[in-house]
Amino acid sequence: MFDKILIANRGEIALRVIRACREMGIQSVAVHSTADSDAMHVRMADEAVCIGPPSGTESYLSIPAIISACEITGAQAIHPGYGFLSENANFVQIVEDHGFTFIGPTAEHIRVMGDKITAKDTMKALGVPCVPGSDGGVPTLDDAKRVGAEIDYPVIIKATAGGGGRGMKVAKTAADMEKAFMTARAESKAAFGNDEVYIEKYLTTPRHIEIQVFGDGKGQAVHLGERDCSLQRRHQKVFEEAPGPCITPKERAQIGKVCADAVAKINYIGAGTVEFLYENGEFYFIEMNTRLQVEHPVTEAIFGVDLVREQIRVAEGLPMSFTQDELTINGHAIEVRINAEKLPNFAPCPGTISQYHAPGGLGVRMDSALYDGYKIPPYYDSLIGKLIVHGRDRPEALARLNRALGELIVDGVDTTLPLFHALLQEDDIHSGTYNIHWLEKWLETHLAG
Ligand code: ADP
Repeated sequence: MFDKILIANRGEIALRVIRACREMGIQSVAVHSTADSDAMHVRMADEAVCIGPPSGTESYLSIPAIISACEITGAQAIHPGYGFLSENANFVQIVEDHGFTFIGPTAEHIRVMGDKITAKDTMKALGVPCVPGSDGGVPTLDDAKRVGAEIDYPVIIKATAGGGGRGMKVAKTAADMEKAFMTARAESKAAFGNDEVYIEKYLTTPRHIEIQVFGDGKGQAVHLGERDCSLQRRHQKVFEEAPGPCITPKERAQIGKVCADAVAKINYIGAGTVEFLYENGEFYFIEMNTRLQVEHPVTEAIFGVDLVREQIRVAEGLPMSFTQDELTINGHAIEVRINAEKLPNFAPCPGTISQYHAPGGLGVRMDSALYDGYKIPPYYDSLIGKLIVHGRDRPEALARLNRALGELIVDGVDTTLPLFHALLQEDDIHSGTYNIHWLEKWLETHLAG
């Protein structure tokens, strides 16, 4: 059993992990940059170690600094949260080589799923349905044109090393191909240092449905249903819910089993998400995330489980604390991501929080590292909180979201809160009839800058 865990992250997710540790009687170690000396995760952890200057590359992404912090504090395991080093196979290898446990999947699983072409090939071989597209990477413009003609337009050109919606370009017709192909490659090179791209059929009205899976690393795995994350801006999720408003229990059971069986076969360990686009009753795999996701609390709410606790348990070699049959859905949950950004352009808006009041009451969870007087540093992601509500059904969850948003006070900086107040006025949000393009179109007409 671990008695001390180091959390290689910051903000709300660091707090999330500290909370799980405390409930399990495990000591927690926070790491932080000089810009985060007064951050909540530093205050809340049992110990804290400064690992470098403000820049993420020199602190939260500095592998030697994090390993040293582990050695100095005597932590036995590292929880990476999401982002930063959470999907860095090289980091996992180094952690293990130093005799520490990485709370997450193996370096090999991260490597396989981190390369989107290998991930697709692997999932296809494991019986998971995929988006039709090129057979692997597409090296030249001539190849791209040939694939475009074969699978028919519109197509999407995507970075093999992609993530965060970068390096993705749509070609509506053959005439768009040259520009789309060249831009996707250039963006990919700039963002990931790798210009390999592949091509997929561009689905015009899909929903983004992702299946939460969990494995024990010994051939057992379960699924915890789906999350609908279709409300996106620039391919980034802003509002997530579970269960998906359009998914039937039969569809859930079928696709859930396909995913759980697939990850069981590769002895996957810990939490993972198999992401799909869903159109006309069909699921199309796009990628697998080998980490805990930002939106994991909606799944926790409807299943009544603590996914971080479970990650720690399986990393210790313990069995999962639930079987597939014990996992039943209770009600409906919604999460909204609150960013320190100024509308209508979503420009990052760091600054000092003059007043913060978190909502409460039945079915309300606020995961945030804010406090009165906190200075949001300009160096990191602009996510400042996640409001999660749980109700007996979707209408109750929406009513609760409305009520909780009314109680939440974040003063001193601009936030994306007005977006959610406005979205709750929309019939499509109440009826659940939206796809991955809905929000972009809505923003064009409602918030044009
Ligand atoms: P990333 O890893 O950069 O987030 P994903 O492959 O997960 O990239 O795709 C992110 C989003 O991009 C999806 O949720 C969807 O909105 C859009 N997208 C990706 N592939 C397709 C496709 N084949 N057709 C239509 N939209 C797509």
